[in-house]
Amino acid sequence: MIVLQGKGISDGIARGPVCFLRRLPDCTAKILPDDVEAEKARLTAAKTRAVRWYEALAEECRRNMDCEAAALMETHAMMVEDEDYAAYILDVLADERCNAEYAVRAAGERFAAVLSASGDACIRARAADIRDVSRRIIRGLTGGGEAGIGADAPVILAADDLLPSELIRFGKDKILGVLCREGTGSGHMAVLARTMGIPAVCGLGDSLSVEYDESFACIDGGTGQVVIGPDQAALYVFQRKTQESRDRKERLLVLRDEEDVTPDGQRITLRCNINSPDDTAAVLANGGRGIGLYRSEFLFLAAHDRPSEEEQFVAYKAAVGAMNGRRTVIRTLDIGGDKRVDRFDPQTERMSVRDHLRRPETLQTQLRALYRASAYGNAAIMFPLITSVQEVMACKRLCQNVMADLDREGVPFNRATEIGIMIETPAAVLIADELAKEADFFSVGTNDLTRYILAHDRRTGKALESHRSDVLRAVKLAADAAHKAGIRVSICGDMAADSELLGTFLAMGIDELSVPPASVLPLRARVRSTVVKNCTLEKLEY
Ligand code: PEP
Ligand code: MG
Repeated sequence: MIVLQGKGISDGIARGPVCFLRRLPDCTAKILPDDVEAEKARLTAAKTRAVRWYEALAEECRRNMDCEAAALMETHAMMVEDEDYAAYILDVLADERCNAEYAVRAAGERFAAVLSASGDACIRARAADIRDVSRRIIRGLTGGGEAGIGADAPVILAADDLLPSELIRFGKDKILGVLCREGTGSGHMAVLARTMGIPAVCGLGDSLSVEYDESFACIDGGTGQVVIGPDQAALYVFQRKTQESRDRKERLLVLRDEEDVTPDGQRITLRCNINSPDDTAAVLANGGRGIGLYRSEFLFLAAHDRPSEEEQFVAYKAAVGAMNGRRTVIRTLDIGGDKRVDRFDPQTERMSVRDHLRRPETLQTQLRALYRASAYGNAAIMFPLITSVQEVMACKRLCQNVMADLDREGVPFNRATEIGIMIETPAAVLIADELAKEADFFSVGTNDLTRYILAHDRRTGKALESHRSDVLRAVKLAADAAHKAGIRVSICGDMAADSELLGTFLAMGIDELSVPPASVLPLRARVRSTVVKNCTLEKLEY
């Protein structure tokens, strides 16, 4: 029995045979063809094939209701046509008078190297996407077959790194779990594995030897432990873990319609974070009391072009309608930083509301779509990355203008739609009392708040301690300011789902938590067994 330790990036237990991914070698040796124009024509045809391939895969994902995977495959299709990438390939063709395969490989390596050299783990993770696209075009040029799994039954798939499109193509039916020598928790493969519910461990390095091909293994995507050739005792441990997790999920289902109230009567409403209207099914299945954060930027990231007012209206209306009267907080576009539209531009700055206000057309269009959707249920609007009272006033003025336009046009909307703000900058915490006079509600974004308070450069990719008293003090300052002004305060960053902080949040009197759908029921169980009078603010002490 051999035990390996990697980094668990997608929770869950898998047991089964290891199978190393068979990738066919790509023939990209440099040759000097007679006719470079003919190479350009071959390249164009191969790119068209690649775009069609990704689009077909996206379509299949949509049919399977996997919107996130579909959006990713659509982005890959866009990357095939990316101007800088395409120009680089043509430059290599023209300068070196070489074959298209060689030029595509050179461009792929160049772009992947630039992305990999970034200090930002999120940007580094994008290198896999450009490699995926380049391999796909080369396959279109050489007519090569697909990478394959040399087995019919489901396997634990092992590879140096796994491309997002490979994970989607093999699918959940074929893959029990994933083992990678490389990779990080923030790459697209990790995001997809989590969405698809496939346990995954990465960062195993050379300890993941090809000798383990076809060996039976057990993996724990939570702890990162991998056991090759488990003995009876290890098998028993993994069997028990699987059964326990299944039982836990089943037991929790009885809480789906129960209230979020502690034994001593304090309420803390549990809502969900979503990225697309398709996620509303998971919100309802897990008993979420609505949506506390709809990250609208995913609509922009998935689109080929800026989504029109109509496209946005359809998406927002779908989310609001699916919630059937439950509150649906939709956040306006929060783009930049790791959420970039142009995936090849590592320099993309984080855009705050003040940047959007300088050129308000995009925000105006979005607000029109949001107000129109407000006629179909219980919607609220939320502005991100606020740093001043003036910004809130300007956002509210824009809302007033949009409502006046809709009035003139006779378009129905809910005039009482609440306007909330995210507290996720140190500036917002320091002036929280002033902001609370202008906002209908606060939602604390602990992800950005942590980063900005600790001057943590996202590009270092280092994990931060999650129970820091300084950050928790900032959350309390925001909560106190909200309550003093008589408005509600929610937490929608990752900390909200940390059950060890629940007692602290209850002691602060936080009104709502917004968490991933799968976290609602475990958190509800905890709420219903936590006596608030025993909760303290000791985590705020140094
Ligand atoms: C946050 O910053 O905590 C937050 C919820 O927003 P996002 O993670 O989308 O930046
Ligand atoms: Mg944020």
